[in-house]
Order: sequence, then C-alpha cells, then structure tokens
Amino acid sequence: MTDCEEAVKPKKFQCEIEGCRAQFDRPNRLLKHRLTHSNIKPYSCIEDGCGKAYTSKNHLERHINTAHRSYNDTEMYSWDMFVYGSSM
Ligand SMILES: [Zn+2]
Ligand SMILES: [Zn+2]
Repeated sequence: MTDCEEAVKPKKFQCEIEGCRAQFDRPNRLLKHRLTHSNIKPYSCIEDGCGKAYTSKNHLERHINTAHRSYNDTEMYSWDMFVYGSSM
C-alpha cells in the first residue's frame, strides 16, 4: 500500500488566508501563491485608464498582448517602464 501513501498524506503548506484552501507541497510555492492575496503587484500596466497590475511579468505581458495588442508591433518597450521599484 505504499503507493497510496502519497495521495493520503496531506500537503504540508497550506494557505492561511481565510476562505482559501490552496495547499502546496513546497514552501516557495506557498510564498508565491501568497502574493495573490497580498496586493503585491510590482508589474503594473502604464496605459492611461487601465490600472491593471500583476504579480508576474508574464501576466502583465499577457495582459498587454490581449488588451493593448496594437502596441505589440513595436516590441521596443523597455519593461522597466512598467515596473515599480527595484527588481525583485
Ligand atoms: Zn491562498
Ligand atoms: Zn493595461
């Protein structure tokens, strides 16, 4: 029955935010997940009237590709323009 052991064993790192049941088997995954609760969104869209912000550059890129696609043509954007503060 050793094969079943893994499935039964609870994951050790559980998000403590109320109403959130996310569980992780690694602490760094939990840390990353916590960002979604903590409003730490260092990647912010600078488009006028947009105001979207994201926890990761990938998410911001995806947002820009979908919401502001016309800017994709130049592709000469410096990402520093989109980021608050220092690099993480
Ligand atoms: Zn959570
Ligand atoms: Zn935007």
